[in-house]
Amino acid sequence: MPFQKTIKSESLLTGIGIHSGKKINLKLIPAPRDTGIVFYRKDKNFSIKAKLPFVVDTTFATTLGIDGIKIRTVEHLLATLYSLGITNLFIEIDSSEVPVMDGSAIDFTKAIKKAGIAKQGKSLSIFKITKPFFYEESHSKIFAKPYKGFRITYKIFYDHPLIKEQSLSIEINEQNFINEIAPARTFGFLKDIHFLLKNGFAKGGSLENALVLDEKGIIGGSLRFKDEFVRHKILDAIGDLSLVGYPIQGHFIIEKGGHTSHINFLRKIIETGSYELVEEPYFNLRLSTQTI
Ligand SMILES: [Zn+2]
Repeated sequence: MPFQKTIKSESLLTGIGIHSGKKINLKLIPAPRDTGIVFYRKDKNFSIKAKLPFVVDTTFATTLGIDGIKIRTVEHLLATLYSLGITNLFIEIDSSEVPVMDGSAIDFTKAIKKAGIAKQGKSLSIFKITKPFFYEESHSKIFAKPYKGFRITYKIFYDHPLIKEQSLSIEINEQNFINEIAPARTFGFLKDIHFLLKNGFAKGGSLENALVLDEKGIIGGSLRFKDEFVRHKILDAIGDLSLVGYPIQGHFIIEKGGHTSHINFLRKIIETGSYELVEEPYFNLRLSTQTI
């Protein structure tokens, strides 16, 4: 049975926004039961829940917002919280973007582990995929089907000698996240940088917080995994899917996805009702599925 959890003590992180280029202080603060994940813009004295209805932009990052007040690049932190089972937390920031750290989720994972995880003695409903559901949007395809755990299978294709075709299927749990997904970094192509900068993105991007690819390979660095690129896409997908606000049960097969298709898929699946919010304890759920 999934339990509500928060962290035991506050944790402070400092970094820069990959898109804004600004220095940002981020504080993780324990929250009471039934709070959910709540971002607090200290500079605006304004809170936004990390939930799907508050997604206002998915261009190069997932952005939450209400009435023009925004929080950009929430996906890596949200993926970490989801995978480590943190369900109640205040995230205080003094700018409009979550710091990118080294482009992966390692620093967020370390911060949560160091702060300690506290069980809050109350169970949670599960977002369970009950019917196969297929979603297609331009070149992206996402297929969701019933499954006893939470699994993501991701396939990417890039016309680049270092990536070409990469595919990975992985059960999303704390251990797999820490070992296989959290270290995978954001990546970008040198040929796109001019366009990104011109349009106000990647102002804080550097070789310290992203894998930058030229025509042949990585500029000034090496890979943490041979398939680091697809692993990072899984990291993004966990963060985006977590915006449903519950632990997830289902298998998601994603081809050439991105923030826009992840979020639109989630909106569509909720609209079509291919899911159930299961409220009974997990062990009863398993017994009942075995008898069907
Ligand atoms: Zn990412």
